[in-house]
Amino acid sequence: MVSARPAVAALPAYRPGRNPADLAREIGVERAVKLASNEVAFPPLPAVVQAIAATAGETNRYPDNGATVLTAALAERYGVEPAQVATGCGAVTVCQQLAQAFNDPGTSIVFAWRSFEMYPLLAEVAGARAVRVPLVPGTPGGPADTHDLDGLLAAADETTRLVFVCNPNNPTGTAVRRAELERFLDAVPAETLVVLDEAYREFVTDPEVPDGVELMRGRANVAVLRTFSKAWGLAGLRVGYLLAEDPAVAEAVRKTHVPFSVSTLAQAAAVAALASEDEVRERCAAVVVERTRLTAALRERGRAVADSQANFLWLPLGEATAATAAALEARAVITRPFAGEGLRVTVGTPEEDDVFITALDDVRDTELTNAPAV
Ligand SMILES: *Cc1c(COP(=O)(O)O)cnc(C)c1O
Repeated sequence: MVSARPAVAALPAYRPGRNPADLAREIGVERAVKLASNEVAFPPLPAVVQAIAATAGETNRYPDNGATVLTAALAERYGVEPAQVATGCGAVTVCQQLAQAFNDPGTSIVFAWRSFEMYPLLAEVAGARAVRVPLVPGTPGGPADTHDLDGLLAAADETTRLVFVCNPNNPTGTAVRRAELERFLDAVPAETLVVLDEAYREFVTDPEVPDGVELMRGRANVAVLRTFSKAWGLAGLRVGYLLAEDPAVAEAVRKTHVPFSVSTLAQAAAVAALASEDEVRERCAAVVVERTRLTAALRERGRAVADSQANFLWLPLGEATAATAAALEARAVITRPFAGEGLRVTVGTPEEDDVFITALDDVRDTELTNAPAV
């Protein structure tokens, strides 16, 4: 009998989120609302649809493995050299390439926890140790929801090749600010690569939350991870990228690239999206307006919600998390529970968010009604 490596056998099986069409059918409603995966609710940008249609006739050929046009467009957009850019099949694949490129067995990857779920998995697959540094309260007496940069620094030792700082953090939405992040970057040993995962950068409104691309300049051991999946609306096409101060970092990531894994359609769509940045910014501004409204609506109901710099909110429900998520699903709303910790809710359209708020009110009322009399 064949057997996978023990590290792989021990990995949890992938559990996809509920499909809204299936859920709607199951509970007999017309439509379920999916607020689980942090996509934007807008349809693809018109220029993206056009670019995909125009490129469809080329799909008998392999894609450009070097993604030359996209790489040049990204370099221009961010004011870096093309040699500082590495594209990948979604930012998650770039994360995996980073681990493959920098982690020998026995080395470690340090990151906050709870943070992006991929980090521990890619460490396991690379045979590296995953070092989780607990989040700390961002507000006095509040829930642990914010990066502990001193803790990350203390956890990094001579075996540490990679440190991920997810800013804003998925799933809590909190962000670390310029002064503390600069202090942290200045203290990290030169042999350790710090990757600022900025998948949600486009939704940041706090001027004190730094742009990683600016912080990266002059720091050879810093790189920035971005994606077209969230603000840019291309989650279904899979394009992410790394910008590195040191071209050798980008080159190492390019060397571990699975050949042709960024498709012709994805490359063309990403180029078209970049050229539509004004429209993307308007969409992000609308998401931010809705984020503010949803945050206020939840706080009015006595819910503790951290200030989010991303396109999702974090409800630290603790032990009530799983039951609340199940009760919301029964009311046709799909969210993302982290059992025992909290619920991540994507900012949707105002209509979708109203369905969510109503369902959440109903869950609470039902709980109260069903509570045993005292
Ligand atoms: C969504 C997300 C990504 C990017 O995912 P891709 O779709 O693979 O580009 C990266 N990091 C974080 C923290 C995310 O939430």
